[in-house]
Amino acid sequence: MGAALTVRGVTKSFATPEGGEVHALKDVDLDVEDGSFTVLLGPSGCGKTTLLRCVAGLETPDSGEIMLHGERIDQVPVWKRRVNTVFQSYALFPHMTVERNIAFGLEMDGISRKDTIDKVNEALQMVRLDGLGGRKPSQLSGGQQQRVALARALAKQPEVLLLDEPLSALDLKLRRGMQLELKRLQRETSITFILVTHDQEEAMAMGDQVAVFDSGEIVQIGAPRDVYLAPRTRFVADFIGEANVLPAQWSGDSISIPGFDDLHRSLIVGSESAGEFVAVRPENVIIEQAESGNGTVIEVLFVGGLLHVEVEVQGSTVSARQSSMVAESGWMPAIGDRVQVGFRAGSVRVVEA
Ligand code: ADP
Ligand code: MG
Repeated sequence: MGAALTVRGVTKSFATPEGGEVHALKDVDLDVEDGSFTVLLGPSGCGKTTLLRCVAGLETPDSGEIMLHGERIDQVPVWKRRVNTVFQSYALFPHMTVERNIAFGLEMDGISRKDTIDKVNEALQMVRLDGLGGRKPSQLSGGQQQRVALARALAKQPEVLLLDEPLSALDLKLRRGMQLELKRLQRETSITFILVTHDQEEAMAMGDQVAVFDSGEIVQIGAPRDVYLAPRTRFVADFIGEANVLPAQWSGDSISIPGFDDLHRSLIVGSESAGEFVAVRPENVIIEQAESGNGTVIEVLFVGGLLHVEVEVQGSTVSARQSSMVAESGWMPAIGDRVQVGFRAGSVRVVEA
């Protein structure tokens, strides 16, 4: 397993119409293993599309290097890069049949007529559209059009397939189905996939590795589970899953969080130098009924077997998740209840601002 794609120190700025400058990518490094599924995750405007466009050759980085299987490609023209992109908009030719849409790029590459027919059929089968090759895009549903766009890109057997929010135009149910399809296609073809999304659940479900973007930088990269369990920054803790992020201050061997009992260093994950905030997942927050407690219940929701409880502790809102079984133990939290709020040992993580 070598590197399919290597990005080193890529920077890209744009001039804004107002005369300012946007730093869309700031010194981005990325390593993508051959045959893997990488997800670029981040909120809108954080530079995900710009990075894909730099890899595809649709933008030129201001500085930095991009290597495809070890070969520098950042100065290579678009059509010579063995990279294909699937856009959110599908970008199908409306006047051509499905078959022609897929065949077009292959013929441009000089592939023989016979091989083209074979590759078109194979690609249609792969995305489960066999039998619909004679239709025009307008005679297909949104989900089917998306499959055509995928088939067209896969037929060219790129070294890397770039997918820019390919599922965001689909409704939730179709989307979940297509996520599974994309995972299957990636496994079956062993083509390296790089998918952009702003949906953290999608990223967690699909990626072998997830690169989290914040304002033009990759702030953390790793297996979904590792990023979830060990967020490095406040932003990552908040963006991936849910987290209570609270201000914290070190004093000697313990940390104080306003409204809570001081916590000894041995109960905390992460080093002192890491920052002035702590993040705790709601499932690691413990609440107990206590008249002289540190918090007041301000919201209680019952969601799929879990109690979502919001508690106010000295000006901060803390979210807790508990199994609804606590109700059977005799106490069901209610709005206005006084409670003592604490954290499970080892679940409080120091994060960077
Ligand atoms: P994302 O895909 O994560 O939503 P983009 O890569 O599209 O983000 O954009 C990153 C930033 O660069 C945004 O602030 C966007 O407005 C800006 N930007 C992108 N392309 C251009 C362009 N061609 N001209 C000016 N600004 C751009
Ligand atoms: Mg984008």
